Amino acid sequence: MADKRDYYEVLGVPRDADDAALKKAYRVLAKKYHPDTNPGDKDAEAKFKEASEAYAVLSDPQKRQQYDQFGHAAFENGGGPGGAGGFDFSDMGDIFGDIFGDLFGGGSRRRAGNGPMRGANVRVSVRVTFEEAVFGCEKELELTLKDPCPTCGGSGAKPGTSPVTCTKCGGKGQVTYTQQSLFGMVRNVQTCPECNGKGKIIKDRCSACYGTGFVSNRKKIQVSIPAGIDDGQSIRIRGKGEPGENGGERGDLLVEVAVSRSPIFQRQDTTIYSTVPISFTDAALGNTIRIKTVDGEVEYDVKPGTQTDTKVRLKGKGVPSIRNSQIRGDHYVTLVVTVPEHLNDAQREALIAFEAAMNNGVKREDKKRRKGLFK
Ligand SMILES: [Zn+2]
Ligand SMILES: [Zn+2]
Repeated sequence: MADKRDYYEVLGVPRDADDAALKKAYRVLAKKYHPDTNPGDKDAEAKFKEASEAYAVLSDPQKRQQYDQFGHAAFENGGGPGGAGGFDFSDMGDIFGDIFGDLFGGGSRRRAGNGPMRGANVRVSVRVTFEEAVFGCEKELELTLKDPCPTCGGSGAKPGTSPVTCTKCGGKGQVTYTQQSLFGMVRNVQTCPECNGKGKIIKDRCSACYGTGFVSNRKKIQVSIPAGIDDGQSIRIRGKGEPGENGGERGDLLVEVAVSRSPIFQRQDTTIYSTVPISFTDAALGNTIRIKTVDGEVEYDVKPGTQTDTKVRLKGKGVPSIRNSQIRGDHYVTLVVTVPEHLNDAQREALIAFEAAMNNGVKREDKKRRKGLFK
């Protein structure tokens, strides 16, 4: 699965941004990266698509809710056969009309500077069994996460002192300088080397966190794995990532699910496949057999005269859809007729008699003598 950027990060908006804020943020990005204003620029085109996708999802309340719950996994499997792209741009016409109708109405992007910065996302993986993935499960993860230092309250300064405003950048976190170049004077903006962009300098470091403002804690986190999750899909747990800086919110915890193989079942999206051996006599005469499904064994009536490799559909015995657990896929069973490897005398006699009955009474012993093949 490709590493896609978080949609909120793409648009540069907080997770609780309202529609107006989303629209404003997208409009700025769309204007900046629109292919018309950047002809031939592949990078701009990619950024434009990324922003458009993010806005298309977040501006749709239902899609936004799915995204908040499942992250990018909510829109995978939906891409039709092959399932590549993952996101369908075909319903974006309305959005373009809506946005570009008043595209040049203004709106400006707030500089990140040393303002609140959202914490980083944390990625972990968890292994579940085939059946746990089908029906969903609860898992407890143990991981080390940073927290704001309780001794200094996250400032990094020794209790009783506070960080002082950086004199080099005046607290802005950035320094601007002009430089003579071949093309004349060039203005450069750089992260302040004195305070590393924080705008503040700690004179006396907090001894509990060595001035970082953070301490690491071992934490237990409960994760609800939804029914229907597939190998490689991720679950987003909001606000359980790294803490933000300068009052920014915490990042998210992204739990990637690794699904173990089953000795019995294979899976493709919501369809389950398995192979069941049936005896030669069950195939010829018909019988009621028991077939293992993820719901336990079910009875199935094998019709007389069933051929090997017959496919049987067990409706609704597949994997629930991750978007609606009420909808389940099917389970396809391939019946494979087995031939006995060892026969005792009675069984052999019975089969010779069967053969003779199938062969107008000509017995194997007769053929054997004719061809000299068998004893
Ligand atoms: Zn501290
Ligand atoms: Zn500075």
